[in-house]
Amino acid sequence: MSTIYDSFGVRPIINVSGASTRVGGSLMPEEVIESMGKAATESVAMAELQGAASRYISEVTGAEAGYVTSGASAGLTLGTAAILAGFDLGKIESLPRTSGMKNELIISREHRNGYDHAARLAGAVLVEVGMNEITANAGVRRTEAWEYQAAINESTAGIYYSQGPDSHPLLNEVIKVAKDNGLPIIVDAAGELPPKENLRRFIDMGADLVAFSGGKALRGPQSTGILCGSKDLIGSVALQNLDMDEFFEIWTPPNDLIPKDILPGIPRHGIGRGFKVSKENVIGLLTALKLFVEDAYLSTYTEQRKFLEFISSSIADETINKKIHDPVEGSPILTIELDLDVHKKSAFDISNELKNGSPGIFVQEVGLEKGIITIHPLNLNEERTKLVAANISKVIH
Ligand SMILES: *Cc1c(COP(=O)(O)O)cnc(C)c1O
Repeated sequence: MSTIYDSFGVRPIINVSGASTRVGGSLMPEEVIESMGKAATESVAMAELQGAASRYISEVTGAEAGYVTSGASAGLTLGTAAILAGFDLGKIESLPRTSGMKNELIISREHRNGYDHAARLAGAVLVEVGMNEITANAGVRRTEAWEYQAAINESTAGIYYSQGPDSHPLLNEVIKVAKDNGLPIIVDAAGELPPKENLRRFIDMGADLVAFSGGKALRGPQSTGILCGSKDLIGSVALQNLDMDEFFEIWTPPNDLIPKDILPGIPRHGIGRGFKVSKENVIGLLTALKLFVEDAYLSTYTEQRKFLEFISSSIADETINKKIHDPVEGSPILTIELDLDVHKKSAFDISNELKNGSPGIFVQEVGLEKGIITIHPLNLNEERTKLVAANISKVIH
């Protein structure tokens, strides 16, 4: 196996970990690659391009507006910056310094995770509510909606919510607290696609901003994401992300993104200027989003299952428990469970040997400590499937 990375001395690998960022995210479909190639050969006014992106994202999410960001994480930073500063040019200039401003975002302790650094980056102070009583083996209850209410004070700027299959309290309960208090709520839904319905679900519930990854199951460029939500907040995002080196007299931002008529002038480059999104990335993301919305990926799930069956059947050891799990929507996954009492190697040993093999094979991290090797088929094709099967069956004994 040889790849373009060889030409700079980087060895080829196969990513069976899914859309993990550290191994390159998802691979893009031909249509997306072609669209990016074409975008790279023509100039475009970036504000107008994001204006058009906003209209398409609005159409498929039901939100008032949308924006292509350089990843979900960037979307969370930009969205937080919008919550903190709005259209106040003084506040936009001062971020991430927020002293004297409403700067607190309330978050459940259960929702704290490494990605919330994105909100702190904009200058927000996270105020935790709830207890991790279940994980601490010291109680039975999870975070409750009243705890958000009780934490609201004159410094509260909004609520930060991390959406997952087991998020608690339920998003609609937390949205109710936000609405009752006139506070915006920003939702990290980076990995929540598919199902397709989630594009609209959190917006329908009343979330003010929702961030999705573009480089995961959407199969857009790795460094893209979508932020959708209310017109004013997305407008503030555009103002803090776009290149601002212009004269007010000739500045023509699209009206549906930036309301020039209510602004006293043009801010300097905002906190989001470092999260530049290229024209190729905007077009690539929109093309991938369109494919996803039109169900172009559905047939690949059947194909992915066949790849997993092939890999599974290549492992002969009878002490190993192999199982293909079919989700309601999205990719199936293969788990290979070792009987740690009889097996000489741990799942960590096997994972390391696979990583260091040729080509390097990167399985999912989750479950390794329990002796479970998980194979995600998102980036497989026939050639890679054969290589994975051959290497796993060689290494696993
Ligand atoms: C992947 C992920 C992110 C970051 O998304 P990027 O598009 O890589 O910036 C944020 N939050 C969660 C929960 C994620 O899974």
